[in-house]
Amino acid sequence: MKCDFTKILQNNKDDILNEFMDKYATCVDSYDEIKIAKAKNYYKQIVESLANNMDSKHIVDTYSMLTIYKMANNVPYIIITNEIYGLKNILLSKIATVNDSSKILNLISLFKEIHNAVAKIYLSTYTTDLIVMNKKRLESLSDIIDKEVIKHYEDHLFWLTNLTKHIKNFQKDIFPEVDENLCAFGKWLHGDAKSIIQSDIRYKSLESMHTELHLFAKKIFLQLNDKEYYVLISYLEKCELLSLKIGTELTLVDNIQMNKKVTKDFLTGALNRNSLKSIFTTQYELSYSTGNSFVIAMCDLDYFKRVNDNYGHLAGDKVLKIFVETVKKYIRNSDIIIRYGGEEFIILLSAIKKMQGYKVLQKIRETFEELTIEFDNKKIKSTVSMGMIEIKPDENHNDKHLDEYLMIVDKMLYSAKANGRNRIEYL
Ligand code: GH3
Ligand code: MG
Ligand code: MG
Repeated sequence: MKCDFTKILQNNKDDILNEFMDKYATCVDSYDEIKIAKAKNYYKQIVESLANNMDSKHIVDTYSMLTIYKMANNVPYIIITNEIYGLKNILLSKIATVNDSSKILNLISLFKEIHNAVAKIYLSTYTTDLIVMNKKRLESLSDIIDKEVIKHYEDHLFWLTNLTKHIKNFQKDIFPEVDENLCAFGKWLHGDAKSIIQSDIRYKSLESMHTELHLFAKKIFLQLNDKEYYVLISYLEKCELLSLKIGTELTLVDNIQMNKKVTKDFLTGALNRNSLKSIFTTQYELSYSTGNSFVIAMCDLDYFKRVNDNYGHLAGDKVLKIFVETVKKYIRNSDIIIRYGGEEFIILLSAIKKMQGYKVLQKIRETFEELTIEFDNKKIKSTVSMGMIEIKPDENHNDKHLDEYLMIVDKMLYSAKANGRNRIEYL
């Protein structure tokens, strides 16, 4: 039996709308009934326009208005595109019995048009936001004093901003350098960086990320005039992601360099307290500009006075040395340990989240607890308590300062002591 395309849509429009609302529609980023009803009304208009054979321009315009509404309500692009595919699939399944292939093809091309119109709107917002975000990232990097390695991340962020501006304006002339060997970062990576980045794995990973990034930049250059906005979005997103990963790698390289340079505490080999402020500032700004969290922990050995009293000051010194050795066994060479006071230490773990950081610190605590330290034919046991915090990159950047974070970890450490010692408390 031949079924009429328009008739099917008209007879099924309520079903289509309900199925779509149940399965795919996210409406808006809220449970606000009024907002949900408003979004649903847009979908209703779109389904009705389809059923009434309205012209495609009208449908695309309605979908564009819906997109602007959704973006204003923080619905991510990926969700918006999922909905487009969802609606298309439902419609195609309903008209599966239609013999008129040109109608089906029209529907498919209409959805391609909708997708591209939505992508155009998103691309415009995304490029504007990325330019602003990169400006903030660069401002945050400007607070770092010693920028030997980080300077090259700055160069790279300038390149990314330039690329984003060209995409925003669909401008091909004076396009940012697409040759990975010729951009400012590439020149450094293939030159001086070789002697700075000692680890082969780290160097190769930076090199391959940078090569991949330029591959996408080349694709962007080639596709810039094709007006396939969704392709440009996915390439630019990839470029941003790779840029942040490059920033993370450079943060770790910078930490390794700093660990080598900064003066150490003579007894334990941990870094001196006087470098804490500049290390924290650098870490704080790098964390913001690369989108990574980091963890700081305050450690205090338990009942350490008793070690001194029972075995003597030199025995106590040995315990301190062994504690730092234990810490170094479990942290990366890009992490940092600082002697904060007598038997108090600060551990700073870069580019890590709370639970991963906690696991590293637990390993240190457990290993230290299990150790038997020999001194003068005597066997000494010791334990450590810690307070830790994850510092996230997006939390009120520049509103908090080192002293406030130290107060928090100190409070956590106090709880660890009060809760029985030889444990870690975190915020
Ligand atoms: P708590 O579990 O509450 O931390 O008890 P505690 O005995 O460790 O108390 P507290 O932290 O107040 O004691 C720190 C002790 O560490 C006091 C000091 O004699 C000792 N200490 C500080 N610096 C050194 C050092 O360089 N070598 C040695 N051997 N002992 C030190
Ligand atoms: Mg103490
Ligand atoms: Mg103590």
